[in-house]
Amino acid sequence: MTARVLVVDDLLPNIKLLEARLSAEYFDVLSAMNGPDALAACIEGRCDIVLLDVMMPGMDGLEVCRRLKGNPATAHIPVVMVTALDQPADRVRGLDAGADDFLTKPLDEVALLARVRSLARLKTTMDELRSRCMTLASLGPSPKLAEAISDEGQNGRILLIDDRVNSATWLEGALRGRHALTIEHDPSKACDRAGAGDFELIIVSMNLAGHDGLRICAQLRSMEHTRQTPILMIAEMDDRPRILRGLDMGVNDYLARPLDRNELIARVRTQLRRKRYADALRMTLTDSIQAALVDSLTGLYNRRYLETYLASMLESASTRGNPLSLMVLDIDHFKVINDTWGHDAGDEVLRAFAQRVKQGVREADLVCRLGGEEFVVIMPEAEQRFAASIAERVRQEVELEPFLIEGGAKQINVTVSIGLAEAHGDASPDAFFRRADKALYRSKHEGRNRVTLDAA
Ligand code: GH3
Ligand code: MG
Ligand code: MG
Repeated sequence: MTARVLVVDDLLPNIKLLEARLSAEYFDVLSAMNGPDALAACIEGRCDIVLLDVMMPGMDGLEVCRRLKGNPATAHIPVVMVTALDQPADRVRGLDAGADDFLTKPLDEVALLARVRSLARLKTTMDELRSRCMTLASLGPSPKLAEAISDEGQNGRILLIDDRVNSATWLEGALRGRHALTIEHDPSKACDRAGAGDFELIIVSMNLAGHDGLRICAQLRSMEHTRQTPILMIAEMDDRPRILRGLDMGVNDYLARPLDRNELIARVRTQLRRKRYADALRMTLTDSIQAALVDSLTGLYNRRYLETYLASMLESASTRGNPLSLMVLDIDHFKVINDTWGHDAGDEVLRAFAQRVKQGVREADLVCRLGGEEFVVIMPEAEQRFAASIAERVRQEVELEPFLIEGGAKQINVTVSIGLAEAHGDASPDAFFRRADKALYRSKHEGRNRVTLDAA
């Protein structure tokens, strides 16, 4: 795991020190000696992670962090504040400013590398999600993402796994009023509890009597239901090996005892905000895939989906020698329906028509809206004769019952013309489609409201 790390510090020796340590671990290091230069480097997309000194003349680290997190173009870049050990309030102020993490000077090498590695991993995942979203959602800003960016990280659904009553009570008190906390005192039930609930964050105590906290973390990471759920572990200050093992296996963050109340609150909030942002990215991705492949009026697959699906169906039918039929449907005189009843009623007819077609065909058949009042059904494992019987059933179901529009205020009679073809080693999906479309043309030509089979 490598990444480009921007080190920001007004003192050259500090930069040199970090540079040496990070380069030794094969990170690319670049540096800036003041706030404005750091902002410029981030805006130009030159770094993946920022290590930011708090105390700098002019624009201090907190202000740089606030500006990075306030700009949609840079808000996703992880920021680690570097604070002096004797300023505990700075930690919390840094997290308040939106920092993802902090390190204290003098820098502990192991902690430094663990934090940078875990943020590099997070950044890679987020970048991947973000770029997929951007590619698909060229349609405009997503309200879900905008909401997640301004989320305050409050009212989290949190599971606490801790068998020590004192410790659990203290944690509960610290988080009370901000989050909904569920406590599991029995470590052997922890994973079942996590798997059954819908938690946004799991806090795991490392010193459980007779149980290995790390094992619980590992299990949570491997369970489908909790794979994406952030884990915050609580460890003893001197338990460094286990902290590092935890971070390596995907635990998102840790707190060391004795616990600082404000730091706990801030780290919990950071995890919640990150999770909600990642969830929003995933949802946006699902939505945009949906939007790219599904027709919004009828909910059927669209032409783009049809093209890829038909190509793959045709190929697998020809390699396996299985039959495949294609039905092309076009509503008769639909223009007249629009002209008579209005465009909105026309839309309702299209929606209801789509439902009737879906109900008329088999489960395995795929119904698409090609555009306008033209539809296609791909019918795997169906020979033409069999497909024709289904097509005839659809034709009748459309004709026999008028379409009730506007709650029955309008009763519209609709008929449909259908063309059918069966795949016969067609060279391309296009050629296959054209044969069905030609048959449809004959249905229209010969009086509409009928099913015509391809002659081939
Ligand atoms: P034919 O029997 O020959 O198919 O005649 P037709 O009127 O159905 O066919 P034509 O292609 O001439 O007209 C299709 C009409 O469908 C024209 C267009 O305004 C209308 N249309 C296309 N898309 C939509 C839509 O999404 N909603 C509505 N209400 N009308 C649509
Ligand atoms: Mg038509
Ligand atoms: Mg038409």
